[in-house]
Amino acid sequence: MMNPIQVTRSSMPEFEEYVEEIKDLWQSRWLSNRGAKHKLFEEQLRAYLGCPNLSLFANGHVALEIAMAALGLSGGGEVITTPYTHCSTTHCIVRNGLKPVFCDVNKDDLTIDASQIESLITKNTVAIVATHVYGFACDVEAIEKIAGLHKLKVIYDAAHAFGVSVNGVGIGRFGDASMFSCHATKVFQTIEGGIATFRDPDMPERAEALTNFGFNGPDHVLYVSTNARMNEFEAAMGICNLRHIDGEILRRKAVSDIYDNIFTGIEGITLPKPRDGVSRNYSFYPVLFDGFRKSRDEVMEILLQEQIFPRKYFWPLVTELECYADRYSDTVSRTPVAKRAAESVLALPLYADMSVEDAERICNIILG
Ligand SMILES: *Cc1c(COP(=O)(O)O)cnc(C)c1O
Repeated sequence: MMNPIQVTRSSMPEFEEYVEEIKDLWQSRWLSNRGAKHKLFEEQLRAYLGCPNLSLFANGHVALEIAMAALGLSGGGEVITTPYTHCSTTHCIVRNGLKPVFCDVNKDDLTIDASQIESLITKNTVAIVATHVYGFACDVEAIEKIAGLHKLKVIYDAAHAFGVSVNGVGIGRFGDASMFSCHATKVFQTIEGGIATFRDPDMPERAEALTNFGFNGPDHVLYVSTNARMNEFEAAMGICNLRHIDGEILRRKAVSDIYDNIFTGIEGITLPKPRDGVSRNYSFYPVLFDGFRKSRDEVMEILLQEQIFPRKYFWPLVTELECYADRYSDTVSRTPVAKRAAESVLALPLYADMSVEDAERICNIILG
């Protein structure tokens, strides 16, 4: 039997490189709470992402939840979002006491269909929370225009989009805030971790207080909040991985190119692509099996038999998950494109050190 192939495999620095990076923690004994690693990592990220205003978090989910709170969005109201995303996006809306209003996605890149947003705006709408699905940037220009007209906040779930740019501008520069996940399974990982970028230079200070129980100085607690701090070992992992990220993305591209070459032009196989001007980080390789001679579930089954583990990512739609079905399953018929994508999508294995042979074998099994 061949070795199992997972949907992804974490990129790590050389062991010695990481050990060298964490060595001084045995001197400083400063293991969390914005230590030297945290500060250095933040500075490097500002440069890499091209975003002067950012904060670090224990994970992407809390980064998004706290970014929304920092922007003053926890006071009720409606938020326009999509059901074709990680449940985390919707949980952040709901946990901030807001009501998600679900908009369909467009069929080309599966991000929010900006042309439908305005029809969903009511007097209660306060924000748009949209996901750059698979690192494919939303139509940020159209969204900005709508938000400006209706005075709405815009927050992007950029969990998949580390390193992506739109016409040369870092993706974290769009909207009022964006969240990047640095989870072990993402393109850029810090074991667990998250980043929020902000338009407003005052936001990082508020967000940082919110990640630390609301403390603002040793004797002052300004907000009722939680603990969402990134620790020094995670920041050190980030510092190491940031040295290699451009190479990582290129190696992912090489695998993605193999898939592209084999799948392009095959009847019933659709390869979603980002819009013009959007650079790629190859965080996922999504394929839609719609009208192909095998159904998506049959493709999944034959791959599993070969110990290859793709993901039905994103299926089910958030609106059909057990925790939301009672409240929102009646909205599924309003998002037919998202529904159809969820039923036909498979994210194929993709990671930087995947071999040419493995990529070709996966294609052969699917087409065989
Ligand atoms: C991974 C992910 C999250 C959550 O990030 P964590 O770092 O795992 O908390 C949120 N949204 C999307 C789209 C994701 O893929």
